[in-house]
Amino acid sequence: MKNDPDSPVFSDAFLIEHKMNYIKKEGEYKSRAQYEDQTRELCTICSIIMKDPNVPSYEVYRTDTFIAFLNLFPYTSGHLLISPIEHYEEYEEMPDTIIEGLSLEIKKAIKLVKTATKTTSVNIGWNQGPHAGGSIKHFHVHIVPRFPRELNFIEIIAHSRPMIMSLEKVQQLYQNVLAALDK
Ligand SMILES: [Zn+2]
Repeated sequence: MKNDPDSPVFSDAFLIEHKMNYIKKEGEYKSRAQYEDQTRELCTICSIIMKDPNVPSYEVYRTDTFIAFLNLFPYTSGHLLISPIEHYEEYEEMPDTIIEGLSLEIKKAIKLVKTATKTTSVNIGWNQGPHAGGSIKHFHVHIVPRFPRELNFIEIIAHSRPMIMSLEKVQQLYQNVLAALDK
């Protein structure tokens, strides 16, 4: 039977089970532990936590358990991310103590973002899994300040997102406001 280019399934598919290791990238590593160590090194958020000089980072603060930093590709100016320092991929995988601590970090971050950006409105959430928009496999919560006017039409007509503040300025602003809130 001939391949139908419009069909989502190739009728001439054949089994190459020995390629499973290649697909899972495990063949390149001597052991599962080594595979996990090396793939973890590629995690952008772990790199930010480890202060890898090759990964741009706008850290706002960190505790023993959590780090707050700016999204390099913000939805709006002030888009903050919070991650556990420990590498967890999914919410339900995290120990209860981390989940409890996380909710307090979210509370602190909302206060910070609202005070610093002088807005009343924030989107809070996370994307888990590749079909849900989860691009980095290290659990992180988005805190996105929202404003009454966001100039979004530019995105549609020019594929560009105007930002009213540079990442450096937002980082500085957040650190200043945080110091004032902590007093
Ligand atoms: Zn990680």
